[in-house]
Amino acid sequence: MLSSVVGYPRIGEKRELKFAVQDYWKSDITTKELGDIAFNLRLTHWEKQKSAGIDLIPSNDFSFYDTLLDMAVLLGAIPVRYKSLGLSTLDTMFAMARGYQGKAGDVHALPMKKWFDTNYHYMVPELEKDTKLTLAGTKPFDEFLEAKKAGILTKPVLIGPYTFLKLAWYEKNLKAEDFVNDAAAAYAKALTRFAELGAEWVQFDEPALVKDMKTEDTELFTKLYQIMFSVPKGGVKVLLQTYFGDIRDCYQDVVSLPFDGVGLDFANGIQSVDLIQKYGFPEDKILFAGIINGRNIWRNHYHKTLSLLKTLRQNAAQMAVSTSCSLLHVPYTLKGETVLSKEKKAYFSFAEEKLTELKELSMFAEKNAVQQAEYCKLNEKLFQAERPDMNKAVREKIASLSEKDFTRIPNFAEREEIQKKVFGLPLFPTTTIGSFPQTKEIKSMRARYRNREVTRTEYTAFLKKQIAECVALQEEIGLDVLVHGEFERNDMVEYFGDNLNGFLFTQNGWVQSYGSRCVKPPIIWGDVSRSKPITVDWSVYAQSLTQKPMKGMLTGPVTILNWSFPREDISPKDSALQIALAIREEVLDLEAHGIHIIQIDEAALREKLPLRKSDWHEEYLDWAIPAFRLVHSGVKASTQIHTHMCYSEFTDIISDIDAMDADVISFEASRSDLTILDSLAGAKFQTEVGPGVYDIHSPRIPTVEEITAALHKMLSKLDAHKLWVNPDCGLKTRGAVETKPSLCNLVAAAKAVRKEL
Ligand code: GLN
Ligand code: ZN
Repeated sequence: MLSSVVGYPRIGEKRELKFAVQDYWKSDITTKELGDIAFNLRLTHWEKQKSAGIDLIPSNDFSFYDTLLDMAVLLGAIPVRYKSLGLSTLDTMFAMARGYQGKAGDVHALPMKKWFDTNYHYMVPELEKDTKLTLAGTKPFDEFLEAKKAGILTKPVLIGPYTFLKLAWYEKNLKAEDFVNDAAAAYAKALTRFAELGAEWVQFDEPALVKDMKTEDTELFTKLYQIMFSVPKGGVKVLLQTYFGDIRDCYQDVVSLPFDGVGLDFANGIQSVDLIQKYGFPEDKILFAGIINGRNIWRNHYHKTLSLLKTLRQNAAQMAVSTSCSLLHVPYTLKGETVLSKEKKAYFSFAEEKLTELKELSMFAEKNAVQQAEYCKLNEKLFQAERPDMNKAVREKIASLSEKDFTRIPNFAEREEIQKKVFGLPLFPTTTIGSFPQTKEIKSMRARYRNREVTRTEYTAFLKKQIAECVALQEEIGLDVLVHGEFERNDMVEYFGDNLNGFLFTQNGWVQSYGSRCVKPPIIWGDVSRSKPITVDWSVYAQSLTQKPMKGMLTGPVTILNWSFPREDISPKDSALQIALAIREEVLDLEAHGIHIIQIDEAALREKLPLRKSDWHEEYLDWAIPAFRLVHSGVKASTQIHTHMCYSEFTDIISDIDAMDADVISFEASRSDLTILDSLAGAKFQTEVGPGVYDIHSPRIPTVEEITAALHKMLSKLDAHKLWVNPDCGLKTRGAVETKPSLCNLVAAAKAVRKEL
């Protein structure tokens, strides 16, 4: 059985590409030096896969920034404003990725968006009136030849035309259909070129097929490929690769087109097996069964996978095994992890280890029964017994939860009245989202503490000084509800993972988030619990310095789960509830120690919304929203619960946000021009709201007039008693220089508008 890898990570085991690209941006290395580093990385990755015995090794999965951006450049979709800078191809691409400010001109970057439901982000291609899609570049061919020269016949990968056109942004009055003929012709030309160069397989990635599709979408898809296939393929085989879900809306269209292989995701596609069983699979095509999960870091359960393959065999005459999606979303290798114990590492499989799993499964699925039995025995051990470190008490607590644990009493309106009295805050109370600038000094102190260069006592004293200065600053500015500044945290998820039982951390488990940025998600290993208070001392200390209310600051269960590698042995729902119980203890502790306003951030709540709207509630919101409520349902009526969300794009889940039953929610809104207000007003949103009045992603200082105008706009849509005034998000990436004047202007604007009423 053939083995195929959809894509391999590219940033480098030691993040070589990240550092090289950054050096290039600073002009510390030349184009040639950057090119050499990139070439070596590609070669290393190909050779790694070859020596693991992989049959179909991807090429053109490499990118200096993003593969969809590369695709736009390959198709000549370079907006005029970038083209007219007159830069080299490479620098034009970087200008599209990051914006450009210099001798040649001044342009913003293309917008960036989340790549489906992953934590990877892509650049949105922009199609203008003047855009003419053609085959305008050579990158995929160059890389194919480069590999061929090194003795490796790769399977070139291109993001397919349907996904490309679905993700692109269109200038006024334009739509995907306007580009169908040109796009299909350009892709057909690429196919012919690959055939000439001697490629055996070419892979078209079409993840957009796993989203909800309307008739016009399936028509668009069919039309693109019909046109493409009207040109002879020249002997090259075409693999249509789908991932991140099942293709229930277009399965029959897909299998009736002349593809030679179809890749389906059996790790994340809920209905993939059903589709095969219901409609069968054509005998003349190869089913590429995506069985190695490219999104998570656990070992594959061989026994389960082999029986799945057996089931599929009954309907598919020809099969290959494959990763479920690109391995871009998992770290490189366990080899460099020296802190994790051998026993624990046995449970994990990163990209390199997944290659071995893929190869082994491709062999076992054939016949080698003896070898199979032996390997499977070892593998089976990992899945039979309960993993070490599990916590019976936590499970019992989860099992005994009832409706009342998810319900806060009294109801919102009663609480609101009580809280207005208790806190006596002015109209439009002013506050911040939590973090204050993380200066070089703070970061270096944290690093020194981690490396044991400073003692705990010294570190604590240092942090207390930061907190005291931060409180004094907020008092001077005149904010109403203060925060301690979050100086003890480098990351809002890692900090809590570090302080809760059940989490593991890697030393080198980096995953590309976008461009040169990587994240190192924690792993949820076992049952989560809290053994001691986490934030209480900091908040209590901060409160002791001021008469104003001090807001406690926590991260919510859904965000912690979404920004970690989740368990697969229990459901995401149970994991979220476990984390919720742990954070709930922290909430109650804060309350008991005199903290009466507590913010529970759910920055990433929106991120894991299922790709199909029909799955939103059943698969996600029906447990995610209650998990949040479980965190705060135990507090008194007079304790005020805040939450914060990073994206204002929640018009479509507005009643779910209200159902979180927080007292106040702050969110990012300034960049969306406060359009969210209409939806809030329309939905009769009961939660008090603090739509961010200025964009913290930019060092610009907003003027009093601008903020006043934003407040007027808010007032025209929403009840004055419901409004809070705050920035967009935390200030940790901002400089101290712009932070103070920005917040002073925010307070001045709130005061001015109060006077008007
Ligand atoms: N409280 C966090 C902070 O201010 C929230 C960060 C976020 O929303 N991403 O940094
Ligand atoms: Zn935020």
